Amino acid sequence: NLVLFWHRRDLRLTDNVGLAEAFEHSPNLVSCFCFDPDILERDDIAPARMAYLLGCLESLEKAYRELGGHLLFLRGKPEDKIPELAQALGARAVYWNQDVEPYGRERDRRVKERLTQQSVEVHECWDQLLHPPGEVLTGTSNNCKPYTVYTPYWKNWSRQPKDQPITPPDSLQGLSEKDEQGLEGVGAIALPSLRDLGFTWDAPLILEPGEAAAKAQLESFCNQAIYSYDEQRNFPFNDGTSRLSPALKFGAIGIRDVWRATELVMDTTRSDEGRDNILSWQQELAWREFYQTVMYFFPELAEGPYREPWDRFPWQNDEQKFAAWCEGKTGFPIVDAAMRQLNQTGWMHNRCRMIVASFLTKDLIINWQWGEKYFMQTLIDGDLSANNGGWQWSASSGMDPKPLRIFNPASQAKKYDPEAEYIRHWLPEIRALETKDLVTGNIAPLDCEACGYPRAIVNHNEQQRLFKQIYKDLKG
Ligand code: FAD
Repeated sequence: NLVLFWHRRDLRLTDNVGLAEAFEHSPNLVSCFCFDPDILERDDIAPARMAYLLGCLESLEKAYRELGGHLLFLRGKPEDKIPELAQALGARAVYWNQDVEPYGRERDRRVKERLTQQSVEVHECWDQLLHPPGEVLTGTSNNCKPYTVYTPYWKNWSRQPKDQPITPPDSLQGLSEKDEQGLEGVGAIALPSLRDLGFTWDAPLILEPGEAAAKAQLESFCNQAIYSYDEQRNFPFNDGTSRLSPALKFGAIGIRDVWRATELVMDTTRSDEGRDNILSWQQELAWREFYQTVMYFFPELAEGPYREPWDRFPWQNDEQKFAAWCEGKTGFPIVDAAMRQLNQTGWMHNRCRMIVASFLTKDLIINWQWGEKYFMQTLIDGDLSANNGGWQWSASSGMDPKPLRIFNPASQAKKYDPEAEYIRHWLPEIRALETKDLVTGNIAPLDCEACGYPRAIVNHNEQQRLFKQIYKDLKG
C-alpha cells in the first residue's frame, strides 16, 4: 500500500499539508523531487536560488533518512518521471501540493493525466498559502470574484480563521529491498551538485538552507526585530526585516508555522506599538498571498502589463543604460549600492527593490519586464508572483490602481539612508566622500574621476518631465 509524495516548493517535513495527508493514507510512503529540464534550462534562473534549493534538498534528504524514509531524486520531464517512478514502486496514489504559477499548473495537469491513465490516484493539496485561491473573495455568494486591490483583500483575509500548523510524520516505513531493486530502471539519481546543474555560486547565502535554519531565523526575528518591524523595515542598512523570503519561496518553513509564531507574539504583546509592528509584518505575509492569488486568477499577468496604456508604452530600452543599471554603475549611489547588494548576495532590501525598479522604469524609461527578468536571474527568493507583482506595482501597470509612482533617488536616500551607511557599505570606492554628496548623488565630476565612480547617466528631473510627457501623450 505504498504512496508517493512529490516535493516541489515545500521542502520540509513539518507543517506540510500534502505530506501529512499522504502519510495518513499510508505510512509506507516514499518521497521524491524531480529536476525538471524545462525549469533548469530557462534563462532566468539565479545561481543563488539554485544553491539555496540544493541546500534545502540536502537537509531534507537527511531528515527523511533520520525518520527511516526515503527522498529520491529524479531528473527529466515530470510527466515521464513521476508516472515511471509510481509504476516502479507500485504506488497506489501520488500526492503533491498545488502551485499558482501557470507553468506549474500546466505541468501538474500533464502529470495527472498520465497517472490517471495508469490508474494511479492523484491527490492535489493546498499548502503554500494560508488561504488558497478562491477562499477569500469579494462580493456575495452568487457573485463572488477574486480581489484585484490589496487593501480590501487584506481586510477580508485578516478576518478569516487560519489553520493550525500540521504535525509531521514521526516515522516512515522505508523502501523494502524489493522496492529498492525496482528503482534501478527509473533512474533515481544522487543529489546533483550546483556545478552538475551548470551553476556556480561562491558567496555566503543570506539564509542557511533547510528547515532548521528557517525555523531558527523565524524564532530570532519573532524574539526581537518583529517588535520594531514597521519602524525599521524601510532602512536598508538595518537588519529590520526577517530575511525569510528564500524559505517562504521554497517552503523550507510552513506558512501556518509562520502565522502561529506571529499570533503567539501578538498574544503576549501588551503595547499598542508592539502590536502595530507585528500587524505590519502580518500584512507583508498577506501581500505574498495577494500576489499569488492574483497570479492564479489572472495568469496573463506573467506575460505583461495588466493595465492600459502600458502595453503600448514607447519604452526607450537603451541597452547601455540597462547594463549600467544591472552592474550598479548608474552614478546614482543609492541605486548602485542596491544593485551591488543584489549582485553580490543574491538578495536586495525591499525599499531598494522599489527604488531601483522606479529608477529603471521612470528614469531610464526601460521596460519593467527587463528588470523583472534580471531580478529572476539574480534573486535568491526570485518568485514569479511576488516579483511580477513588485515590478508591476513599481511600473504602475499592475493590479494596484494608484496613479503614477515616481521615486526621487535623492529623497529616498535622504529619508532611508540619511548617514549613507548603506551606500558606503556597498560602494567602497566613494566611501570617503561627504555624506551629503553620497545621499543627494551630487558628486563632483573630479571626485567621480578620482574614485573611479561613474557620473550620473541621466538627469532625474529631466527624465521625470520626459516620462510624464510620454505618459500624458499616450493617455491622450
Ligand atoms: P520581510 O519584510 O520580513 O517580509 C516577510 C515576508 O513577506 C517575505 O519574506 C515575503 O515572503 C513576504 N513579502 C514581503 N513583502 C512582500 C511583497 N511586497 N510582495 C510579496 N511578498 C512580500 N519577494 C519575493 O519573495 N520574491 C521576489 O522575487 C520579489 N521580487 C520583488 C521585486 C520588486 C520590484 C519588489 C518591489 C519587491 C519584490 N519582492 C519579492 C517583495 C519583497 O521585496 C521581498 O519579499 C522582501 O524584501 C524579502 O525580504 P524579507 O524576507 O526580509 O521580507
